[in-house]
Amino acid sequence: MKTLQLVEPTRLELTEMDKPAVGESDVLLRVRAAGVCQTDVHMRHTAEVWAPSGTVLGHETAGEIVEVGAGVSAWSPGDAVAVHPVWSCGACRACVSGRQNACMRTGNRMIPAPTPGVSPGVHGGMAEYMVAPASALVGIGDLDPAVAATLTDAALTPYHSIQQTRHLLAPGSTAVVIGVGGLGRMAVQILRAVTAARVIVLDVRDAVLDAVRDRADLALRSDDPGAEDAILKATGGYGAEVVLDLVGDDSTLALATSVVAPYGAVRAIGLSEGRFTFETSQGGMSLPWGASLTRPYSGSHQDLVEVVGLARAGLLTPEIHRFSLDQGLTALDDLEAGRVRGRAVLIPE
Ligand SMILES: [Zn+2]
Ligand SMILES: [Zn+2]
Repeated sequence: MKTLQLVEPTRLELTEMDKPAVGESDVLLRVRAAGVCQTDVHMRHTAEVWAPSGTVLGHETAGEIVEVGAGVSAWSPGDAVAVHPVWSCGACRACVSGRQNACMRTGNRMIPAPTPGVSPGVHGGMAEYMVAPASALVGIGDLDPAVAATLTDAALTPYHSIQQTRHLLAPGSTAVVIGVGGLGRMAVQILRAVTAARVIVLDVRDAVLDAVRDRADLALRSDDPGAEDAILKATGGYGAEVVLDLVGDDSTLALATSVVAPYGAVRAIGLSEGRFTFETSQGGMSLPWGASLTRPYSGSHQDLVEVVGLARAGLLTPEIHRFSLDQGLTALDDLEAGRVRGRAVLIPE
């Protein structure tokens, strides 16, 4: 079968591999769609040790089950599914309480459960076929597989942060979304679908802001020195209860932490190697009282079930750009060059 494989660090190629064998608790999927993420672009370029040498990329996958392992009874050939990209143990205290994204059995508090297409040796969905644990599947019914694929990361990740901060997002509250690319646009749709919060969006690209202006209460350039004042003014000086930073560089972390409200939450979802200095001195306090800053990981299995529910109800409508699997490298080039508005998805023929 055809795959898009990170053969070795910085060498991503279209390769041929044998169709994978199905383990007892796995299913074999015919891949219908595989989303392309900034993480894939990053993995193609990095020579860092964590880069998954030899791994087929793709952590956003939807497909049709063509074979089930001997121990699988919940799924059958023909079922249309999306793949939860957190392959946790399913049995530890964190997993049982619904926090698969904080599984305790990875042996290291800094390392989450395996992610297909990202963790070394765990092949992802940029291929004609993929093996996945039956426990990581969510049924998608007649939802477009290309849409379903993008839900598993581009929607799941912001949805998880919004779910975790729902108690702060009462009617009348304010949510700020910094960076309205693939994930940010999903974040805006999710906020509109599940809360009555006021939504303020920021980006450095006018065209991107124009595309979400009709869904936002206020759209601002994040590189405008007046952005901080404009947000504080819009909230009577109090700040925003929730700030989702989908960029995560020095400047967006500075902006996010300068506009978050007391006891509010900053969720640094974008990983652009930004730094923030935490201070406890009275004079130099870097956050208002009670405010939190965390870096969430993916989302829970339940979050993915709910995201699929939102999409099937017509409340999540990602903008999709389709490429064939053969055009995978072009799709990554286009994403890297900023030519993809919305989400690029690979469709194996
Ligand atoms: Zn991703
Ligand atoms: Zn676990």
